Amino acid sequence: MRPVLAAISIACFASGMPFSTRLVGSLTESLFSGLAGLADLAVPPQCLMCDTLTAEPGACCAQCWQKLRFISEPYCAISGRPFEYDPGAGAVSPEVLAAPPPYNRARAAVIYDSASKGLVTRLKYGDRLDLAPWMAQWMVRAGRELLEPGVIVLPVPLHATRRIGRRYNQSAELARHVAKSCGLDCRPGLLTRSRKTRQQVGLSASKRERNVAGAFRVPAQARGVVRGSNLLLVDDVFTSGATANAACRVLLRAGAARVDILTFARVEPTATEALYTA
Ligand SMILES: [Zn+2]
Repeated sequence: MRPVLAAISIACFASGMPFSTRLVGSLTESLFSGLAGLADLAVPPQCLMCDTLTAEPGACCAQCWQKLRFISEPYCAISGRPFEYDPGAGAVSPEVLAAPPPYNRARAAVIYDSASKGLVTRLKYGDRLDLAPWMAQWMVRAGRELLEPGVIVLPVPLHATRRIGRRYNQSAELARHVAKSCGLDCRPGLLTRSRKTRQQVGLSASKRERNVAGAFRVPAQARGVVRGSNLLLVDDVFTSGATANAACRVLLRAGAARVDILTFARVEPTATEALYTA
């Protein structure tokens, strides 16, 4: 007998009140379930990055917030890579002029560093799907010029076996929330990963390109939607661009009118490889 039930039973016995154990039991169960419900409601909001208490949900504590490096203009009009100085509106970086990417524009919310890596890792491996809507809000702000009416949102797909291991595709979760908050269509089925690629960690830029070449496919039943569409491809991290470029080329070959890229974070070209091991 639970202590509370025992206490009620003893109280009833002492007062000479008749009691039914079943009735008292059900009252006690209700009391317990009610308290559990209240406890759920009473969980105070926590920092998305370190779990310390915050004033409102979906926020970071002051310390974590300071560590995040949000990307804002000036940046390359095409790749979205931040400029150290302002070369004027619409300026394009020298590397994009030298080797134009297949995508139309790429944007990201934050620089990928040890702080933002914590959030990406929590979402990807930590079963913290509750982070996705908040991270998506930052992406919506960073990619507002890409989120035009009629744009179809889709995630960079995981290979089926990798998705089983991880149970969900973190990029699909971000894509779903980005699309939902802008009233756009999210169509994860437009692109599939037909080949399992090795992790890009430790590979040079040219090896990364080769690793993902031929990894993506537009299924026959999706071609009608892709043809002539303006697409927004969503991923968690933009590293060398090899994955985004490979996916983008496949979509363009299938007839997409335009493909933009929106990621939560982007790696700085000067970043060390140690960061990539997320
Ligand atoms: Zn924090």
